[in-house]
Amino acid sequence: MSSPLSDLLRPDLRGRTAYGAPQLDVPVPLNTNENSYAVPQDVVDAIVSSVAEVASGLNRYPDREFVRLREDLAAYLTRTTGVAVTPAQVWAGNGSNEVLLHLLQAFGGPDRVALGFTPAYSMHPIISGTTGTRWIDGCRGVQGAGAFDLDVTSAVTQVKEHQPDIVFLCSPNNPTGTAVGLDIVEAIYDAAPRAIVVVDEAYAEFARAGTPSALTLLEGRDRLVVTRTMSKAFALAGGRLGYLAATAELTVALRLVRLPYHLSAPTQAVACAALEHADGLLATVELLKTQRDRIVADLAEMGLDPVPSDANFVLFGGLRDEQATWRALLDQGILIRDVGLAHYLRVTAGTPQETGAFLEAMRRLAPTHRQEQSQ
Ligand SMILES: *Cc1c(COP(=O)(O)O)cnc(C)c1O
Repeated sequence: MSSPLSDLLRPDLRGRTAYGAPQLDVPVPLNTNENSYAVPQDVVDAIVSSVAEVASGLNRYPDREFVRLREDLAAYLTRTTGVAVTPAQVWAGNGSNEVLLHLLQAFGGPDRVALGFTPAYSMHPIISGTTGTRWIDGCRGVQGAGAFDLDVTSAVTQVKEHQPDIVFLCSPNNPTGTAVGLDIVEAIYDAAPRAIVVVDEAYAEFARAGTPSALTLLEGRDRLVVTRTMSKAFALAGGRLGYLAATAELTVALRLVRLPYHLSAPTQAVACAALEHADGLLATVELLKTQRDRIVADLAEMGLDPVPSDANFVLFGGLRDEQATWRALLDQGILIRDVGLAHYLRVTAGTPQETGAFLEAMRRLAPTHRQEQSQ
């Protein structure tokens, strides 16, 4: 049945369903890679007083250039990665999803092509689609011992074949969990001389020791962009603040497409207060990494097939029917993520209690939910 509105909708959007992970009220929510730890009280107090300071000025538009926030973000990146990042190199939005949208609005669009390597972050093709950018689903290469590792030769071949305007890399990769080597970023950058190369580092703070950030490659690469977010390690998903670092010239281009005053004064105040307390907020990162490693070890012990992870989640395979396992867990109040990969599910590392509840349930389910070993 067609209604007049559906005829008026852009043809490429007709028949689509809106993206969204289930938001269910369950005792153990481990499906969207949020940080399970609540914002600590001293940071809550700092956020409240920071917002109170701007409240009386809400009759005015906020600082369109969010100068203080860019200074704080640049200082955070410089302090934690050792790469000197200036405020002029930083751009921010309401979540890194908005930052990705700005990139696509400025560098994608009709007649332009974006390439990513599936499975990766599902919003990359979705945001590409909303801007009319043609999406090409590249593949990560051979599955085998290093399941889901991005194969450099294959990636370079795909980039040369499609000559994209934008390439998306995700490191550590969601949903597979592993970081991409900088040699691969460099090879792809060199193989795509006209492309903006975006490295989505939403989970960078969770990477295993010795995993360098693509920020170390920024110098001398004016088409390289590294995106980050406060949604995961910073435990600030509800604050909606994502950002990127690139050349200052690239951030100037993004000002052409952003809506004026896109970052509200409360958003800027919340993010600045959180950055001032970065150490307190990031204290949970080590706890979550311990739970992540516990998930990998325990699932392997159960005869399942966890993928090594540099993030705050684990993708695991070896399930006969992943949808049946997903439902069996939900019946016990444990919500994890079906990412649409046959025989695999993804689980976020939570508090020791949440993680324990998940592992206990899996231990009971594993004998009947495992895939047959011999085929
Ligand atoms: C969670 C996630 C983000 C974060 O999006 P926000 O809009 O910043 O909340 C970005 N990229 C990837 C790969 C993610 O998994």
